[in-house]
Amino acid sequence: MPSRKRPSKLLRCPTCGTLVSAGGEDFPFCGDRCRKIDLGKWAMGVYKITSPIVDPEVLEDLGGAGKDRRGGTSGDRE
Ligand SMILES: [Zn+2]
Repeated sequence: MPSRKRPSKLLRCPTCGTLVSAGGEDFPFCGDRCRKIDLGKWAMGVYKITSPIVDPEVLEDLGGAGKDRRGGTSGDRE
């Protein structure tokens, strides 16, 4: 039986919101990937915006979401 220990804290990964137990290698992030993403966010100044999910793939999706308006592929009117 494991000896009494302080109950491990659970925090949410600042990047993706996954529950992470304190003391992990990449704490407070769920993994190396999220830690790097977080660094990248700071670098890009994304932290100004409060966004619950910031993931490279999601960012790509967001970027592509506006292509209806400003997409130059098919030409608006000719
Ligand atoms: Zn994460």
